[in-house]
Amino acid sequence: MKEQYQKYFLDILKSLIETPSPSGYTFHVRNLILKELEEYKSLGEVKVYKNNGIEFIFNSSKTENRRAICSHFDTLGLFLSHIETDGMIRLDMIGGYPWTAVEGEYVKIHTMDNKTYTGTILFHKASTHIYGSSYDQEPRKQDLMYLRLDEKVSSIEDVNNLGIFLGDFVSLDPRFVYTNSGFLKSRHLDNKTGIALILTMMKQIKEQNLQNKIGHFRCIFTSGEEIGKGANFVKDLDELLIVDNAVVGKTQNSLEDKVTICVKDSTGPFDYSFKKHLINMSKSNQIDYVLDVYKRYGCDSETVLKLGVDVRTALIGPGIDASHSYERTHIDALTHTFLLMINYTLGDAVKEHCVE
Ligand SMILES: [Zn+2]
Repeated sequence: MKEQYQKYFLDILKSLIETPSPSGYTFHVRNLILKELEEYKSLGEVKVYKNNGIEFIFNSSKTENRRAICSHFDTLGLFLSHIETDGMIRLDMIGGYPWTAVEGEYVKIHTMDNKTYTGTILFHKASTHIYGSSYDQEPRKQDLMYLRLDEKVSSIEDVNNLGIFLGDFVSLDPRFVYTNSGFLKSRHLDNKTGIALILTMMKQIKEQNLQNKIGHFRCIFTSGEEIGKGANFVKDLDELLIVDNAVVGKTQNSLEDKVTICVKDSTGPFDYSFKKHLINMSKSNQIDYVLDVYKRYGCDSETVLKLGVDVRTALIGPGIDASHSYERTHIDALTHTFLLMINYTLGDAVKEHCVE
């Protein structure tokens, strides 16, 4: 990624990450993306769907080799599920993660009348001065966790009088940090990095006048992937490249400074020819890639294929450590993911390989 694009990428990534968007509460970040897309309206058509998903279509009149790149902008979060008689707030999760991943995290409550309140997610025996070793021994379960609201409340009425009600969305403080050593630490790198990479690629396409080289090409931004409802508007497509986080950990091949081509996730292997296409492309363009298998992982490909769309799908992404917790990746992984994305976008359609 050239310097001017890297600066844009980091700026837009920070804005995206700092705009709360737990699944079901994504309109603010949708509007941020739509504002960015205004830059490109002379180059294509924008479609906005009822679940907040967006498609930007270059060369929509062309019907051969309809290709797309897709990332989701919804994130994990929480939901106010119950208020106790003493005003204590109980929570439901949005998306999949253990309670330990958010214990002690600062949060914001977003009320229906657009007010925001702060709080902290805590275990019910948080003080070791009172509870001693039971702090370590008890499991973190939903009914043992609560939201400590930074307001003086002692009843349901006190909480309601602030405008806070059951059903309000709760977002996690992302704590975005870019270190001098090139690491990005933040919540929601899954998958605001994917969105920022697509927007950066669009900027490069416009500034270098590449739009006529890419045929029918869609940039797809989905809302609801974390709850299995992301790409449910996608149809009439031949190839779909998903950009989503790669899983870094001891049992995985993915690394924080490389792009991963995922060959299989929980739903099964990805398209054979598409995989070969991406591997060949990486080899011939010095893109630092690894292959990996994700054992507990689904993505927007699953939604599209389950709807019966006749499309080849593949999944790539930057290696992200501690996914769905306090995540981290390196600028090198983002650069190699970007290179693979732009080479794919400017390259030829996937050819059938299995008969060679
Ligand atoms: Zn994701």
